[in-house]
Amino acid sequence: MSIEVEGLTKFYGNQKAVDDISFSIKSGEIVGFLGPNGAGKSTTMKMLTCFLNPSSGIAKVCGIDTSISPIEVKRQIGYLPEHNSLYLDMYVKEYLGFVAGLYNLKQNTSQHIKLIIEKTGLGQEQNKKIGELSKGYRQRVGLAQAMIHNPKVLILDEPTSGLDPNQINDIRKLIIEFGKDRTVLLSTHIMQEVEAMCDRVIIINKGKMVADDTTQSLQKRFKSTLILNVEFKNTVKESELNAILGVGSVTEYGKNKWKLSAEKGTDLREAVFQFAVDTGNIILSQNEEEQRLEEIFQHLTKNG
Ligand code: ADP
Repeated sequence: MSIEVEGLTKFYGNQKAVDDISFSIKSGEIVGFLGPNGAGKSTTMKMLTCFLNPSSGIAKVCGIDTSISPIEVKRQIGYLPEHNSLYLDMYVKEYLGFVAGLYNLKQNTSQHIKLIIEKTGLGQEQNKKIGELSKGYRQRVGLAQAMIHNPKVLILDEPTSGLDPNQINDIRKLIIEFGKDRTVLLSTHIMQEVEAMCDRVIIINKGKMVADDTTQSLQKRFKSTLILNVEFKNTVKESELNAILGVGSVTEYGKNKWKLSAEKGTDLREAVFQFAVDTGNIILSQNEEEQRLEEIFQHLTKNG
């Protein structure tokens, strides 16, 4: 196993940021680590990369315990933190040379840096100061520094946050390319990111794990749910909608616009129509949709 986490827990003072999570990731997997803001993703990643000590539990990378041999673990890991602090006054090539020097690489360093610059598409920018680069290119420099020592495991914290759609595409391609023969754990709160890159998803909410499954079977598992979007003319109460027979969950998504979930096979339309008649309301529009991954995520992380 490339990553093994067992009962990992982290307290900040009295606050439990990560609550007894366990999972393992094999070599060659690209796993999406998902959760809303504050779920505990960064904290987990910091423990995996030895920047934080767990309050309890075990984290191992390539079989090495992070609390026993942190230096050895760091050699196996490439880490792109969420706020990637680079030396803005350094030139791209100079900076990568500096990072390579820290790792004491066995191979010809300048050849290797050239290769990494090529792979990360930094050729045109290599002689610029990091401070002059766009956010997308700075993120490439971050990825280049994370990969420079040929780590077996890449831990990427929100690698595409703040980038424009073109930059996002480029960074995703890069990650997929590097992930072919490495293990990648990447955090995000964007579902499309997972759909685009990951074949497995771990979801955490308020420090607890709420799902660990392949993207496909997560979608399949929730395919049995139908969503009915209804727009009423007049105000309705959530509790009134909840009381309609067959309604699973209720979410307001606009003024007098509601999403009602039901098990597949349950036709809510008649009951909702009857509800409107009984309460003197009018249905302005309604349509059915299948749950998308985005909604599955919202469903899993809404409560708990
Ligand atoms: P995520 O990466 O999923 O957004 P974090 O791991 O950053 O979540 O945060 C989890 C929880 O721990 C949040 O409630 C956050 O406010 C808290 N937290 C994170 N870092 C610290 C810290 N250094 N000191 C105190 N609380 C923290």
